Amino acid sequence: QTTRTQDAIALVESSTAHNYHPLPVVVAEAEGAWVTDVEGRRYLDFLAAYSAVNFGHRHPQIVAAVKTQLDRVTLTSRAFHHDVLGPFARELADLAGKELVLPMNTGAEAVETGLKVARKWGYEVKGVPEDQATIIVAEGNFHGRTISVVSFSTDPVARTHFGPFTPGFRVVPYGDAAAMAAAIDDTTVGVLVEPVQGEAGVVVPLPGYLAEVRRLCDERRVLFIADEIQSGLGRTGTTFACEHEGVVPDLYLLGKALGGGVVPVSAVVGNSDVLGVIHPGEHGSTFGGNPLACAAGRAVVAMLATGEWQRAAVELGAHLHARLRELIGHGVVEVRGRGLWAGVDINPELMSGREACEALLAEGVLVKDTHGSTIRFAPPLVVTRDEIDLAVDALGRVLAAR
Ligand code: PLP
Repeated sequence: QTTRTQDAIALVESSTAHNYHPLPVVVAEAEGAWVTDVEGRRYLDFLAAYSAVNFGHRHPQIVAAVKTQLDRVTLTSRAFHHDVLGPFARELADLAGKELVLPMNTGAEAVETGLKVARKWGYEVKGVPEDQATIIVAEGNFHGRTISVVSFSTDPVARTHFGPFTPGFRVVPYGDAAAMAAAIDDTTVGVLVEPVQGEAGVVVPLPGYLAEVRRLCDERRVLFIADEIQSGLGRTGTTFACEHEGVVPDLYLLGKALGGGVVPVSAVVGNSDVLGVIHPGEHGSTFGGNPLACAAGRAVVAMLATGEWQRAAVELGAHLHARLRELIGHGVVEVRGRGLWAGVDINPELMSGREACEALLAEGVLVKDTHGSTIRFAPPLVVTRDEIDLAVDALGRVLAAR
């Protein structure tokens, strides 16, 4: 590291709240699967901004759409109409096979929106007594950082000293449909589930789980709210991770890649019998559905509509997983995941996830640990097989050096 990197980091450390602990690399430029730091060193980006950069850094189609929109109109608020929201919403709803879209900005906002919609639906359509609504969530969940969302986190670091918490949530083990069935009662308005738990370490539930949750929701008249903010939009080899079990939730929560890695864009997507419970004044956001966001979102939806990104995730993902599995017994304990998305458990006696990330950084590969000795591999879907080999070979070297 030169003083250039050190100075840039020192300024961040002295000027921002320490709510993150970034790896010591200062990115100045990026293109596709590669980023360049302030020293001119290049790195393969195998985090892709937690899957917000699914299409690669600065994908030309997305950048062009946003540049064009920059020269037209960027913000109106929802006090007025603008001419990009309608097309974006229609195209996104069609991609999801749903009727309506409620646009927001960040993932946590989409989650909050889904929870509000489910509660209102519960009172007005299902007939749950006022203030009695319950929502079932899964252990190990990650849905964001707002007070209500951390109210049902099972991660002590996310919760400690942030109470009092929002009531009305029940936590059951992830992947356990029987526990979910037991937790549902007449007050239950929704179940909120990640089809693959990303932050928990790319945990894929056993086959049949999502389908059984769907069946339970139908039987007990409960909304299935799928948090596809990280799993959706191509990452797992399908547009939505729920598709792997042929499951259609009542509400999709989308974010991250929806903005093409350029602007924050999130959305709740569902049918009018559910999203129709929201009326003017009851929910919103100054920036939600803004023209720039919609322009980025339209480009993303158009790209996903071709199916090529999903196919790339399947093919590249098979290669990534095959290569990572070769390291089992050579410092790797387990590899999980779906599509171009892998959680890799490193033998904790060798090193922590953080240490692995620091060693990979020195090898020119950017990855991020989740918990303990788990790291995740989630490169942009523009990555090549050779680049996957570079990253996995680097991991092999890092583990062999211990
Ligand atoms: N839901 C899931 C599944 C996520 O992975 C995340 C972010 O990692 C969120 C919600 C929160 O999104 P945001 O950080 O944009 O609020």
